Amino acid sequence: MSLYVQKFGGTSVADIDCIKRVARRVKRTCRQGHQVVVVVSARAGVTNDLVSRAAAITKNPDPREMDVLLSTGEQETIALLAMTLQSMGVPAVSRTGPRFGIRTDANHTQARIAELGGGDAHKLLGEGKVVVVAGFQGMSDLGEITTFGRGGSDLSAIAVAGALKADCCQIFTDVEGVYTADPRIVPDARKLPELSYEEMLELASSGSKVMQTRAVGFAQKHDVAFEVRSSFNSKPGTIV
Ligand code: ADP
Ligand code: ASP
Ligand code: MG
Repeated sequence: MSLYVQKFGGTSVADIDCIKRVARRVKRTCRQGHQVVVVVSARAGVTNDLVSRAAAITKNPDPREMDVLLSTGEQETIALLAMTLQSMGVPAVSRTGPRFGIRTDANHTQARIAELGGGDAHKLLGEGKVVVVAGFQGMSDLGEITTFGRGGSDLSAIAVAGALKADCCQIFTDVEGVYTADPRIVPDARKLPELSYEEMLELASSGSKVMQTRAVGFAQKHDVAFEVRSSFNSKPGTIV
């Protein structure tokens, strides 16, 4: 039995049909005899919508209130996915970032992970449950909710995989892997079967949003290997 961390980004959980597709994939992984921790983003467009609501009120929103606001996007998704899994006969429980023991500094909207306990994850996994964790969020020492910057669910997934010593960390997204350039802009971009942390870091920091730069830096520092692959098919992706 292996422990899988599977992360699904915004377009992969955009609506109920997408969430059902994600749940079927998680169920397949469980059926293969593996334990699964799922990390999810807010549904596509939700974070942008929340940002624009705040912008309609003020040019300088209080960063603490921004974190209270933006963290709700991921909380919606964990509840919906946990319910979907349960309705398919897969025992599942949701965990917010704070409840999962993700401790951060107090740098609101750009918080850094200080410690990741995993809460009661191993106990829940031992009981045969899928644990569905909200990406992009943690909690400061003051007990305040914090977020990790845009694209920060990637960082959550890498950090969770590292802390739980997962056997496999899969980043499911809306392209089939990491390409030589953005495949939506450059039609003849090539999918790369394998990349080093350094190469991935270079791509990420030059603006390729397929993986958050901070997530790649964290993976390199803690030696957490991961695969970027499509949530819409079963083709092998890119191993970093
Ligand atoms: P998610 O919501 O799953 O986190 P993102 O939108 O953050 O997904 O990242 C995936 C997007 O990254 C793709 O749709 C693609 O347009 C873009 N992208 C930019 N550069 C690359 C690249 N080199 N390889 C793959 N995708 C890339
Ligand atoms: N929901 C956050 C964002 O849109 C985090 C993420 O999706 O990774 O940036
Ligand atoms: Mg992303």
